[in-house]
Amino acid sequence: MKVYERGMRMEWQKELKNCITNAEELCDKLELPAEEREKYEKIISKFPMMITPYYFSLIDVNDPDDPIAKMCIPSEAELLQEGSFDTSGEGENTKWEGVQHKYTQTALILSTNVCAMYCRHCFRKRLVGLSDAELNKKVDEAAAYVKEHPEVTNVLITGGDALMNPNAIISRYLSEFTEIENLDFIRFGSRVPVTFPQRIYEDNELLDLFEKYASVKPIYVVTQFNHPREITPESIRAVKELQSRGIQVRNQSVLLKGVNDDPNVLGELLRGLTRLEVVPYYIFQCRPVTGVKGHFQVPLRKGVKIVDEAKALQNGLGKSVRYVMSHPRGKIEILGESEADKMLFKFHQNKYPADRSKIFITDIKDDATWLDYELNPV
Ligand code: SF4
Repeated sequence: MKVYERGMRMEWQKELKNCITNAEELCDKLELPAEEREKYEKIISKFPMMITPYYFSLIDVNDPDDPIAKMCIPSEAELLQEGSFDTSGEGENTKWEGVQHKYTQTALILSTNVCAMYCRHCFRKRLVGLSDAELNKKVDEAAAYVKEHPEVTNVLITGGDALMNPNAIISRYLSEFTEIENLDFIRFGSRVPVTFPQRIYEDNELLDLFEKYASVKPIYVVTQFNHPREITPESIRAVKELQSRGIQVRNQSVLLKGVNDDPNVLGELLRGLTRLEVVPYYIFQCRPVTGVKGHFQVPLRKGVKIVDEAKALQNGLGKSVRYVMSHPRGKIEILGESEADKMLFKFHQNKYPADRSKIFITDIKDDATWLDYELNPV
């Protein structure tokens, strides 16, 4: 293992200082008139902006409907008040500071509120770049909770972006959790391979850490590629570096209007991921989050057709992806249309074990994008 000097700044840390974080920089970069600044300032004061120079370089600035721009450049639609900030019951599932325990086998740890990029469609808009009130600040206490719950067989360390934690914190999580007998594996939730791949391939200290602990317990990085144009030489390099150190990389996409709500685009994404040995396991229905609901959600009826057509373009591995929604009741698989006005769903994970694996049919209007909280499976 290499020896690193304390306090030495790596290239990726210097690059973070070049991120676009304010309206003035954004307008300069997009060559927008100064009058536009006020509009962006208003949005950014509510929901922060951070765009890495790398991710910005993926934007086609000549395309007003560019899908990459939609995911990183603030939109006035974020100021609409509809929706809510906690659409899947995260508050009620928080059992310890920063530790959520909704499904029997899985504990989720909010490790940071920092991301390399603040995705405009984020479902934790209530906290990214903002409050740290919901975060776990004591790794040992999170580990103690997991040890005291032997039914927990895996942890998801997330945020914000788990790989935006300093290496010293990541090391603490790894050293504590790889020692816990009841854990089968550890997952890190991170969009860094997509938005800031340099943070991985320029940081041998991080890669050495992963390699060291992957020999003790399986480690996964669960990332979020949403568009085939995010699969670049840089993001491929980040994924390959992780894989070469024994880390398994998996993908969860979000179905987003104007980004990937086209079977050919989604199909190309799934194929690109399987080619990279990154198994795509979920396509999430975008949640009705305040600031997101109005402009990113795709109706369920349309969504299921898009996903089915995209899956038809895949081999068996690509077809294994599931179209799901993270509902307060559990993770619900969206199976398809059953008869006129009705759709078929199945609980993939359930907060209430008695309802586990239940299949149900319910009325769904053409423009419906979510299921009511009080749904009653039959
Ligand atoms: S990286 Fe993840 S947590 Fe951070 S803003 Fe994007 S979607 Fe949200």
